[in-house]
Amino acid sequence: METNHNPFTPPIRIVASRRRRRTVAARLRSGVLELLVPDWMPRAERERWAEEMRRRLERRMQRARPSDQRLSERARALNERYLGGRLRWTSIAFADMSHLWGSCTFTTGAIRIATRASSLPEWVLDYLVVHELAHLEHSDHGPAFHELENRYPLTERARGYLMAIDQGAATP
Ligand SMILES: [Zn+2]
Repeated sequence: METNHNPFTPPIRIVASRRRRRTVAARLRSGVLELLVPDWMPRAERERWAEEMRRRLERRMQRARPSDQRLSERARALNERYLGGRLRWTSIAFADMSHLWGSCTFTTGAIRIATRASSLPEWVLDYLVVHELAHLEHSDHGPAFHELENRYPLTERARGYLMAIDQGAATP
């Protein structure tokens, strides 16, 4: 069991709709969990769904928290999938960095990913990991380095995504 120091208990608003037949949907709006239900649904069932959706959202938010365990799993999977499984590192962990998205200490094989990157979409976080993994072989950003990082198919898109954030056009 995971310990949970911050239980997620948002105010819940139930919106009943005549047009909704069977399905239940939930969304988080300005901190309020809105539950969209068909208007025939009995109160007890609405409340059961409210609890279920609250739990699902809580799980989703926990996954988005910076977890070093999650990082090492991603690194292992990406190394296998795109880099022939040949790269070796000594540690990979989130660290507070305000200007960089990641760093790799070539000499010790220690990889750091900015804590703020933990809320990025999975495929962008994966790019950051691949980028730092590629630095285990090439400390510079030369052609051999790019050949390696471009094995991750979403590299170009992820770079564009991060560039937009760095220029203040979006928030992570
Ligand atoms: Zn780099």
